[in-house]
Amino acid sequence: MSYFSTVPQAPPDGILKLSVLSRADSDPSKVDLGVGAYRDDNGKPWVLPVVREAERRLNEDPNYNHEYMGVGGLPALTDGAQQLIFGSNSPAIGQGRVYTIQTISGTGANMVAAVFLKQFKRPADAAVYISKPTWGNHRSIFETAGHEVREYKYCNYKTLTLDIDGMLDDMRSAPEGQIFVLHACAHNPTGIDPTEEQWQQIADVMSERGHFPFFDCAYQGFATGDVDRDAYAIRLFVDRGFELLVAESFAKNMGLYGERTGCLHAVCQSSDVIPQVSSQLNRLSRATISTASAYGAKIAATVLQDPRLYEEWLQSMQDMSQRIKTMRDALRDKLVALGTPGSWDHVSQQIGMFSFTGLSKLQVDTLRNQYHLYMTDDGRISVAGLNSHNIDYVAQSIDAVVR
Ligand code: PLP
Repeated sequence: MSYFSTVPQAPPDGILKLSVLSRADSDPSKVDLGVGAYRDDNGKPWVLPVVREAERRLNEDPNYNHEYMGVGGLPALTDGAQQLIFGSNSPAIGQGRVYTIQTISGTGANMVAAVFLKQFKRPADAAVYISKPTWGNHRSIFETAGHEVREYKYCNYKTLTLDIDGMLDDMRSAPEGQIFVLHACAHNPTGIDPTEEQWQQIADVMSERGHFPFFDCAYQGFATGDVDRDAYAIRLFVDRGFELLVAESFAKNMGLYGERTGCLHAVCQSSDVIPQVSSQLNRLSRATISTASAYGAKIAATVLQDPRLYEEWLQSMQDMSQRIKTMRDALRDKLVALGTPGSWDHVSQQIGMFSFTGLSKLQVDTLRNQYHLYMTDDGRISVAGLNSHNIDYVAQSIDAVVR
C-alpha cells in the first residue's frame, strides 16, 4: 500500500480549473474573462514599458549577478514599497516604526502574515474574519496557517453594493480583538469598495472593538489609477494609530505576475518593538523561502527608485485603469442598448479588475458551454479581458442567457 494512499483529494481550485477548461477550448469566439491579469485591447498580456526599460538596464549592467539577497529582501525594493503604501512623508516611516520584508508576491505576504499572526496573535484564540465573498485563497491561506476563519458580511447580493450596515454589525458583534482581513482597494471578487466615509466608520468600529486590521493590497493604482487614492484606507488606519499588517503585491500594478514580487509591512506603535517583530518575520521567511527572489525585485526597485521611470509607471497605471473603466462603461451601455433585463449600472460603478455581474451559476454555465465565454462560478468577470473586438459578442451572449 502506498505511503500516500491515505492522503485525501484536495478540493479543486475554481480559478485554476477554469483556466484549464478555457485553454482546452479552441473555438474562435472564445473569451476568457476568468484570469485576473491585465490584457491589452488585442487581448494580449502587456509588459509595461518601464519594466522593459528596467530589464534593459539590468541586462546591460556588467556587475549584475545572481547572488542570494539578504533575508529581508532587497532594501531598494522594501524602502520604495513602504513609501508607495504609506506615502513618502509618512510619519510612521519617519519614526522608524514600520518594518518591511520582501515576500513571494501578495500570496507570500498573506502567508507570512498568517503564520506570524498564528504564533503571536492576542488573544491567542482570536479568529480571522474574511469578507463574504473574498479572494478564494484567503480562507485557504489562513486555515493552512491554523486559524479559525469566519466571515463578515460585505456584499448585498440583491443590489450588488456594499452591505455597510451588515459589515459594521458583524464587526460590532464579534468578540473583542479579532483579526479582520480588509481589501485595501479594488475588492476581489466584487469590485465594490467602501467610500472614504465608510472607511472612517469601519475604523471607528474596529477601534472601539480592539480589532486588528490586516490589509491585503493587491491592486494599488489599479482601482482609481491613483496610487495615493488607492492607499486611502491603509493611511487612514495608520493615522488613527492602529498597529497593522499590509500585504503588498506588484503582480498587477507592475505586471510582474510571474516574477512573484511583493512585500509584507508591519506598522507598530513604536520603534521599540521593531527589533522583535523584524526578527520573527525574518525567521519565518528564512524557514519558508530562505531568501526572497531577486529578478522581479530588482526590476520593481529600479522603477520605484528612478524618478523618470516612476512617473512613467504612474501613467501606465492610469492607462490600464482607464482602459478597464472604458470597458465597464461600454459593457453597461451595450447591455442597456440591447434592452437586457435588469439593471447594469453596477458594472460601471464597481472598481478595479473585476466586476461581480450578478449572473447566476446556471447562466455562467450556459455562457461557458454554449457561448465559449469563461467567468468564475460566482459571476465574476475580469474586465481586463474585455476589448473592442470582443465586447459586442460578450454583451450579446450575456443578453441571450439573461432573457
Ligand atoms: N490578494 C488578492 C485580494 C488578490 O486578488 C490576489 C491575486 O489575485 C492576491 C492577493 C495575490 O496575488 P499575487 O500572489 O499574484 O501577488
